[in-house]
Amino acid sequence: MFGIWGHPDAARMTYYGLHSLQHRGQEGAGIVVTDGKRMKGIKGDGLVNDVFDEKKLDSLKGAGAIGHVRYTGKSGIENIQPLLFHSSSGSLALSHTGNLINANDLRHQLEMQGSIFQTNTDTEALAHLIKRSGYLALKDKVKNALSMVKGAYALIVLTENELIIAQDPNGLRPLSIGKVGDAYCVASETCAYDLIGAEYIRDVEPGELIIINDEGLHEERFTLSGSHSMCTMEYVYFSRPDSDIRGINIHTARKNLGKQLAIEANIEGDVVTGVPDSSISSAIGFAETAGIPYELGLIKNRYVGRTFIKPTQELREQGVKMKLSPVRKVVEGKRVIMVDDSIVRGTTSRRIVRMLKEAGATEVHVCISSPPMTNPCFYGIDVSTHEELIASNHSVEEIREIIGADSLTFLSVDGMMKSIGREDLGKNCGQCMACFTGEYPTEIYPDTPLPYEKEME
Ligand code: SF4
Repeated sequence: MFGIWGHPDAARMTYYGLHSLQHRGQEGAGIVVTDGKRMKGIKGDGLVNDVFDEKKLDSLKGAGAIGHVRYTGKSGIENIQPLLFHSSSGSLALSHTGNLINANDLRHQLEMQGSIFQTNTDTEALAHLIKRSGYLALKDKVKNALSMVKGAYALIVLTENELIIAQDPNGLRPLSIGKVGDAYCVASETCAYDLIGAEYIRDVEPGELIIINDEGLHEERFTLSGSHSMCTMEYVYFSRPDSDIRGINIHTARKNLGKQLAIEANIEGDVVTGVPDSSISSAIGFAETAGIPYELGLIKNRYVGRTFIKPTQELREQGVKMKLSPVRKVVEGKRVIMVDDSIVRGTTSRRIVRMLKEAGATEVHVCISSPPMTNPCFYGIDVSTHEELIASNHSVEEIREIIGADSLTFLSVDGMMKSIGREDLGKNCGQCMACFTGEYPTEIYPDTPLPYEKEME
């Protein structure tokens, strides 16, 4: 998500911001802009570049804008964000990342009270709650709506007159504010600021609500409870290496994960290679600590989307074939240590191991820079159901056999926290690690919708 207020070409800035955040979602993109009187939006399937061109950006005039790149969920243009609603009392646009765990309940209640939904997103339930609130000021409407939702949400709301930002009480998804000239901006990741020449100011705190309008920036809270449970997978896999989350650089965290993994794995090999892009930093750290040369053993075809994000298994499998190629001269006749960030279903790892062996690797040792993923994520990351998570149903040795590796090592939970720099922060250590430990930072209802299930509806 990206948002900006107080810039004469807000839509173009949002376009650049979304471009930097493209790795977070490639299914669709949208921008809504306001000129202070009217709001207008454009959205479509695919990458930011597929959806927007000069002509479209020229048609989006105004000083306030929000944008969104879509990661997963039910397809259909109506589900692409930002969602934009018009009414006699004014327009309202919303961008939301995360997953509302009581979305089914809320939707049912709202429908019983007469609401008609146009989309399959939990974001729309939020829009209805905001619009139906009896309060006059938008900030109070948003606060009232947020008192009813549970789960993970980083939220940006735009009207003709202001921009409102909110972070859920557990701070599960990253969100920060920055400044470019006199304009304030907000982004899911700090890497968006570099491209537009903005200066990072600070992260949005759990339970915080920030109002930005022509009078400036005003900080409030919508709940007094709030504790940090930042998604650990943001450090391991999701965020870009040049982003910082809560003061920790992603590349540095990943390199530390690789260093710790080398200590825990303690194996011999001739070359270390990382699965591009998210595991390169960890592979460099591994090689440095193990004293084994780091080599580019796998090359990524830059112009294919991330397989993890493709919405169906069939597309995922096609994507893997298109995405990676082994560098034969690097791996031929070598014992290859292949560093990857995670194993979800095991299909990708199996294909890469086979690919390296077909290219002549004599041994392939798979080292994973996170612990076995044994539990689904209810907070907006598509890590599937218990049944589909290979580590939920198989031992490490069984997984090794399935993926065809000569050895398989996962990083320990303690090692992961130490590498990210969170080990001294107490029991919860300020991170969500539920997909590794099963300890969810929020309550989970029996019918809590998974992002994956939403797409299967
Ligand atoms: S369960 Fe895992 S993927 Fe989901 S928010 Fe927590 S750490 Fe992130």
